[in-house]
Amino acid sequence: MRLERVYNFSAGPSVLPEEVLKKAADEMLVYRDAGMSVMEMSHRSKAFERIIGGTEERLRRLLDIPDDYAVLFLQGGASLQFAMVPMNLMGRTGKGGYVDTGHWSSRAIKEAGLFGEVEVVASSADRGYTTIPEIPPLPEGLSYLHITTNNTIYGTRYTSLPATGDAPLVADASSHILSEPVDIRSFGIYYAGAQKNLGPAGVTVVIIRKDLVGGHLPHTPTMLRYDIHVEKRSLYNTPPCYAIYMVGLVLEWVERQGGVQAMYERNLEKAELLYRFLDESDLFTTKVEPAYRSLMNVPFFLPTEELTATFLEEAEERGLVNLKGHRSVGGLRASIYNAMPKEGVEALVAFMKDFERRYGRRR
Ligand SMILES: *Cc1c(COP(=O)(O)O)cnc(C)c1O
Repeated sequence: MRLERVYNFSAGPSVLPEEVLKKAADEMLVYRDAGMSVMEMSHRSKAFERIIGGTEERLRRLLDIPDDYAVLFLQGGASLQFAMVPMNLMGRTGKGGYVDTGHWSSRAIKEAGLFGEVEVVASSADRGYTTIPEIPPLPEGLSYLHITTNNTIYGTRYTSLPATGDAPLVADASSHILSEPVDIRSFGIYYAGAQKNLGPAGVTVVIIRKDLVGGHLPHTPTMLRYDIHVEKRSLYNTPPCYAIYMVGLVLEWVERQGGVQAMYERNLEKAELLYRFLDESDLFTTKVEPAYRSLMNVPFFLPTEELTATFLEEAEERGLVNLKGHRSVGGLRASIYNAMPKEGVEALVAFMKDFERRYGRRR
């Protein structure tokens, strides 16, 4: 039986900062002067109002979110945004534009097709999703352009944003929000499920420019209307209170680390350690075009299935867990989100070096 914490490279739900978990544990039975756990309090109480308000305020500070944007805490995961975006935005022209960069963007494309016309303006499918495609000038009449700014499964990320003219840019940033600086003004909607870089599963953050709310399609269920959630400040119904509280603790932690720029510098350092080793290795390989490498999700490969299985087994014995690649890509993947300490990446690289020494070709 293992009694200590491991280095958890899971793609999501994923590692949380230890300090955050300790603080949550401290406040589990009695939250400050509330006399009860956050899980037990009314979402209309003063205490919870301060929690949700404080969480929003911190996110606004960290991402420098302008006043003409609303911040929502919703349920249904990033996956529900695949439907909410077209339901609320497609009304303008009946057509949504999408860039296909793999699994999650394909899901978004499929869902949008339920509500109107979908135009896939660019795709990296022909390159096995190992790159971000060049995006041509957009056709007329798109209600929006949807992109997946970090591709969790394939390990790619946008390093510049497409020009979209009048069409608002909508981004699924689930797997790298707060990992690098971003200008929210470039986006109409910027959304992220919490369970990668923000907190536990159960809440999805949606940052939306206020002029984009209110144009939902007829028959859009009340719970799926952005205008309702904006008007009610995410309190139309009971929100995922505890998950929001946890996101607040994670944001507090990010602020203590020095904010998004400091996270970015740490993330660059961590990713560089891993990619440098992979580039020099004779045994491990990586497929993503270097210019588009993700700082958060690093897929890599060994030459045989057998070696891959051995690697996973030995890694686990050393407390390096959840390194199996996504089933659609195979191989291995290390997710090194904000909360993964540099020591975790160092331990992984040291193990990979040792593994290569023992199993690599003799030179
Ligand atoms: C994990 C992930 C999703 C799915 O999120 P859910 O919260 O499970 O719906 C969508 N998009 C991206 C980029 C992801 O990494």
